[in-house]
Formats: sequence, C-alpha cells, structure tokens
Amino acid sequence: MSGLLIIGASYAGVQAAISARESGYQAAIRIVADEADLPYQRPPLSKGFLAGTVAHSNLILRGADFFAAHRIDMQLGARVVQIDRDARRVERQGGEQLGYDTLLIATGSRARKLTVPGCDREGIAHLRTLDDAVNLKQRLEAAQSVVIVGGGFIGLEVAATAAKAGKTVTLVEAGSRLLERAVSPLISGYLLDLHRGHGVDIRFNETVTRIDDGPGGAHDLLCADGTRVHCDLIVAGIGGIANDELASAAGLRCSNGIDVDEFGRTDAPEIFAAGDCSNHYNRIAGRRVRLESVQNATDQGKAAGAAIAGKFDPYDSVPRFWSDQYDAKLQIVGLSAPQDVAVIRGPLDQGRFSVFYYRDATLTAVDSINRPGDQMIARRLIAASISPLPDQAADASFDLKKLEAVG
Ligand SMILES: Cc1cc2nc3c(=O)[nH]c(=O)nc-3n(C[C@H](O)[C@H](O)[C@H](O)COP(=O)(O)OP(=O)(O)OC[C@H]3O[C@@H](n4cnc5c(N)ncnc54)[C@H](O)[C@@H]3O)c2cc1C
Repeated sequence: MSGLLIIGASYAGVQAAISARESGYQAAIRIVADEADLPYQRPPLSKGFLAGTVAHSNLILRGADFFAAHRIDMQLGARVVQIDRDARRVERQGGEQLGYDTLLIATGSRARKLTVPGCDREGIAHLRTLDDAVNLKQRLEAAQSVVIVGGGFIGLEVAATAAKAGKTVTLVEAGSRLLERAVSPLISGYLLDLHRGHGVDIRFNETVTRIDDGPGGAHDLLCADGTRVHCDLIVAGIGGIANDELASAAGLRCSNGIDVDEFGRTDAPEIFAAGDCSNHYNRIAGRRVRLESVQNATDQGKAAGAAIAGKFDPYDSVPRFWSDQYDAKLQIVGLSAPQDVAVIRGPLDQGRFSVFYYRDATLTAVDSINRPGDQMIARRLIAASISPLPDQAADASFDLKKLEAVG
C-alpha cells in the first residue's frame, strides 16, 4: 500500500489526514503512531484531567469509527525508526517496511528531561503523554509535598492543580520571572501574585544541581545556592524538544524542528511536516519559529493535508495559545517578543485585563486574563494588519470593532 503515510497521530497528523480526504485525496491514507491510545487531547493532561474534573473518555479526539468512515488506516503502538527516501518507505520498529507516495512527519515534541545526578530516581515525573498523566495523577494524590522544576506553562498548571488539591508546592525557576519566553513581565507578575496567593513557594534564579534520598523514600533536592528542598514528588516542566531526528537522519533540513514552507513542504518534494516538530516563517514574528500549540499543529496540519491533495491554501494563522491556572484563563494571540510598547486594557485589579503589544507601531500580540472578547477582536485585527492606537487599546470604553469597518 502506498498513498499518504503519516507519522504521528495527534493534532497535526490527524488533521492532515482529514484535510487531505476532505480536499479530495483518493488514495490510501495510513497513520502510524507509537502511542497505543486513540488520538487524544493533551491540554487537559495538566489541567482538568490531572485535577480529576475531565474523565479519560472525554480526552479522545476522534473515535475508531471516524477513521474507518474516512478510510484512514490507524496503526497504533508502532514506532517508525527510519525513513528511506530513495525507496520511499519507512521502517517500523521490528523491521516491517511501509511504502508511501507522500510522507507527512507529525512526530510532535517531547518533554526535556532533567539530567542532574539523581534524576533517574523513582518519583520524578515529566508530563507529555496520557501515560505520563495517569502516572502523575496517582503520584500527586499520594504526595503531600511537590517540587515543580520550571515556571513555564506545564509547571504552572501542575502547580495550580497541586496547590488547589492542598499540597505543599515549591516551584524552582532558573530565570527571573514566570513564562519568561511567552508573556510580558506584567503578566508574569500577575501570575506570580496569583500563585503566591495560593501558597505556592516560588523561587527564582535557582537551579537544581542534584537529587538525593530523603527520609521515607522521599527526595532531597539540592539547589545551586546550597538550599535543600525536601519533597515526595518532583515534576519537571523544563520545556519541549522537537522530534526531528527521523527527518534529520533522512537528510531533511532541520533547524530546531523540520524546516517547512507555508504548505508544510520540506526540502524534499514528497515529504511534508507539521505541528510541534516543524518550524516555519511566521509573518507576525517576522522570523522562523517553532510553535508548540494546538492551534499551530491543527492549522498547519490542515494546510499540509490540503496541499497533499493538490489544494494550496497557505498557512498564515495568527498564533494562539491558552492556559488555565486557578480562576485565571490566560489567552494569548500573536507573538509579542520583541515589543516596544505595551498597554493595559481593562481592570487589572479585578483580574480581567489584556495587554496589547506593539512593535514599530504595529499590534503584534494581545495577552488576556479573563477577557475572551478582547481575544476575538484582537485575532481579527492582527490577521487583517489593523492596529488600534495604543490610547484606543488602553481605553476599555473604546469599541475596537469599529476599526474593522474602517480597515
Ligand atoms: C500537558 C500539556 C499541556 C498542554 N497545554 C496546551 C494548551 O493549553 N494549549 C495549547 O495550545 N497547547 C497545549 N499543549 C501543547 C499541545 O498539546 C501541542 O502543541 C500539540 O499536541 C502538538 O501536536 P502535534 O500533532 O504536533 O504533536 P504531538 O501532540 O506531540 O504528537 C506527536 C505524536 O507522534 C508520536 N511520534 C513521535 N515520534 C514517532 C515515531 N518515530 N513513530 C511513531 N510515532 C511517533 C508521538 O508519540 C505523539 O503521539 C500542551 C501540551 C502538553 C504536553
């Protein structure tokens, strides 16, 4: 069987298969994925699923019936170990060869692992897959004290879930503020107050150097400044790494992810890539970026699937991301860094505000806390390259929708 072969069954791979079919692709479509579960949603793993409010059954992205109805052959629990571009086939672990006419690599990213001495002890958790989440959920329930390493999205969401469950939570961050690469100092500061208000002990400019035995099977975490923190559970949320090794071993151009164009094409005409494992030139950022978000994986998968079927509709979506921590819904549209002007809209003291970011007088991003309406309009304004004046953005009574009509 040749046709379209997709490696990875998550947002990008599944969406590409659906879009190829919807765009008229008639040949066989096969998805090969190393995880044994049907494709599922990852965001709830650090939010509702971990907190126990979202059930396992509600995570499923698409059921087996859906794939059968769309003639998409699913091979789950099967890891691809090599791509042979000359023969146009891939090798599965165990040696089986699968041919393709077109290949789409949607292998996503993986959690960066702690590498300090003692990091291979039982009870140190990373969070990427459903299996990781099931494991972490059990450990969290049994733990009294938790240390989170890393003040990024996953670390903060796990910290919020653990603090709400009454655990003693310490968060160790190597940088000088939370979510340093994703949001402005203002949002970082807001989240810091929020977490500290819920009793989370947050320590900045602190790196973990070793993990030792603590009493009763617990851990003793040694930091660079000599401080020790004792805890039952350690969760590392120290970023993601693109799964681009298959592609680079096959000679495809990679630079922090597989290089693709606006249709998901790599530098080999018969091979596409999409989602966390790829990087693309982003108009809003003005540079190549590798994004880790559901929106990016889904929209890129869509563009790639359609292009494989011969319908070329470029990927040019405005990047979006969200995070839930306590009662704060953080939503991000656009890419803020670098920025030269930032203005606040809405009541910060009531936890309902947005920050509008500008670069060279152009609106590039909006971060919102509990203001979904601002996100909707900001998305349309950024997509249409319409920039409200900073004074207009800062005036919550100014109707930003009026600007759309003007254009
Ligand atoms: C805990 C958590 C919370 C998140 N929260 C949010 C959020 O709130 N909002 C948001 O926008 N994004 C969030 N994300 C990020 C989002 O889930 C990812 O951006 C998205 O899943 C990327 O989709 P993808 O299809 O590119 O790759 P992935 O979801 O990474 O899937 C790739 C699949 O390919 C498989 N694979 C890899 N190599 C091989 C191989 N050689 N052979 C076969 N299969 C292979 C992988 O095992 C995996 O199943 C979160 C991620 C995590 C882990």
